Amino acid sequence: MSLYLLDSNDPMNSPWDRAITANLYAPGQERRLIQEIVLGIGGWQVLEKLGIEPEVCHLNEGHAAFVVLARAYSFMKKTGCSLAAALWATRAGNVFTTHTPVEAGFDRFDRALVDKYAKFYADLLGLSRLDLMALGGGRAEDESCPFTMAHLALNGCSHVNGVSRLHGRVSRKIFQPHFARWPEIEVPVGYVTNGVHISTWDSPAAQKLWAEACPRDCLPDGIDYLKDGITRQSDSQLWSFRAEARKDLVEYVRRRSGRQLQERGAGQEELKIARHVLNPNVLTLGFARRATAYKRTDLLLKNPERLIAILTDRAHPVQLVMAAKAHPSDEQGKEMVKQMVNFAARPEISDRAVFLEDYDIDLAQHLQPGVDVWINTPLRPNEACGTSGMKVLANGGLNISNLDGWWDEAYDPEVGWCLGDEREHSEPGRDEVDAEQLYRLLVEKVVPLFYERDEEGIPKGWVAMMKASMARLTPRYSSARMMQEYVEKIYRPAAIAFRKRSADGARLAEELAAWQERLKENWKDLRFGRLTMTEADDFWCFSVEAYLGELYPEDVRVELYANPLPEEKTEAGAEAGISKGEVGQIMQSAPEKIAMERLGPLAGAVNGFIYGARLPAKRAVEDYTPRIVPYHGGAFIPLEEAHILWMH
Ligand SMILES: *Cc1c(COP(=O)(O)O)cnc(C)c1O
Repeated sequence: MSLYLLDSNDPMNSPWDRAITANLYAPGQERRLIQEIVLGIGGWQVLEKLGIEPEVCHLNEGHAAFVVLARAYSFMKKTGCSLAAALWATRAGNVFTTHTPVEAGFDRFDRALVDKYAKFYADLLGLSRLDLMALGGGRAEDESCPFTMAHLALNGCSHVNGVSRLHGRVSRKIFQPHFARWPEIEVPVGYVTNGVHISTWDSPAAQKLWAEACPRDCLPDGIDYLKDGITRQSDSQLWSFRAEARKDLVEYVRRRSGRQLQERGAGQEELKIARHVLNPNVLTLGFARRATAYKRTDLLLKNPERLIAILTDRAHPVQLVMAAKAHPSDEQGKEMVKQMVNFAARPEISDRAVFLEDYDIDLAQHLQPGVDVWINTPLRPNEACGTSGMKVLANGGLNISNLDGWWDEAYDPEVGWCLGDEREHSEPGRDEVDAEQLYRLLVEKVVPLFYERDEEGIPKGWVAMMKASMARLTPRYSSARMMQEYVEKIYRPAAIAFRKRSADGARLAEELAAWQERLKENWKDLRFGRLTMTEADDFWCFSVEAYLGELYPEDVRVELYANPLPEEKTEAGAEAGISKGEVGQIMQSAPEKIAMERLGPLAGAVNGFIYGARLPAKRAVEDYTPRIVPYHGGAFIPLEEAHILWMH
């Protein structure tokens, strides 16, 4: 695998151009737009120059979406096909992963800026200004409508996904307006939950443990890596492994905080405290993140006295290792960090709480393997996925988190603890409620489970939870599983579609472009006539008249649609004894869509037909509504063609 990094800082460039790529998250719309043009268009040109011809282009977030235009342009030049066909052909091989659960997270640009910097490229393609703006979303004629990179990506890709099950659902809601009159559940946004690269995040001791549990030829990152192996490990083995890991962390923290103090010119007394901070036998909580509002980095510290009481309990003490980093321009984030620093400095907990500066990967690689419990407190549904909690899994750490991002699908009471519920809350005082629940969970569940020991000193319940978390979650939240899903669900179908559409001088792509043009011109003339429903022998017989205007009957499909029945299916899932995650899937199950058969021409009508369908009368007849949708075996509908006509 090769990684190419683009940098405009070349002496041949003007000073202004040299600065284009100088900073990440460049301030100001203009600088960002230029960066994204460099990334999307420049990125594609680099590949061309290198002679690399990818079948699949993965747009990770909308930032690179201009690649859609660059790829179509080079396809056009190479094959001599039309612009519409080039867009159809290349789109098949473009895939888009959205990463934010809030619409405000999408990059937006004023049209004047797009005119200034991107229109030249549309001109090269022969794409009109209005068509360019239409690709950027919203109503093309509305000049106040900004150009949105996520919309360009949506319009230029054949597959779209979020990064967790919940984020997929949230993204369907966000993108619903893009699919006017389509039900939210049919908005074509799936999900592939993120995963972590296990061999980056497991400690050497964890690597050894997993290797012992699975002695022969299993890949270290294999999906089924030792599902059973870990559960066969003895409790004392696993508990000793945890104790070692905790000890390593305590030593690391002592060294690091000593250095931190020295750099600040601390006195001997303070350094002495740092040398003895933490205790390798005490339940260790880890809490580290980018300090931003939605992550509620301050939640754990909402009631400092309460937390101090938990940390300093004589019989069952608890210790806390914190780290954080705030964006330099995020005042609220910086305030949160200060709060953590001040808390850790309180004398009554000087040996129980530590704040480590400069949260980075190196620190995380020491912190994650050592903690017993990882705490995460995002405000649902703002955490698209979250990965920090996944990093403790292979190391035998457990998670407490709000049901958000990955934890919404991973949580079950056997593998960890959850905060909050499966609803979104925004009422004032919510943080206090969640903080109170967090303290209670610690006091009533987490701490007792950790300190409840058998005659050998082993906390059986704790180790059972470790085993369940390690065996069940580690493989599922690994990057190996994630990659496999991307390949199977997205890359392979995208590559196949691209090959088909671009074969024979893009014959299929030209056909699809012509089909879309017909739909565009004629959709307004589609019309339903009479609908009749009869019941016979527990079957519904539907028949409906449809006038297709100038369209070929093959261009569209007349179908019956009914929303999914959630409750009934959830119970069925629960009865079958399947886990919460899978029930969630069923609740999101597909709606009923029944293709109606063209029974014959409608007497006296031009291009009017009678369509019929017969189906078991299992649910109310009024649940079903006829509709007409575009149809072509080679198109992704509704992502690529979103016309729809409902009878009602
Ligand atoms: C894993 C990691 C993150 C990302 O954590 P999320 O939970 O995905 O927000 C951020 N910073 C560092 C140093 C990390 O190791």
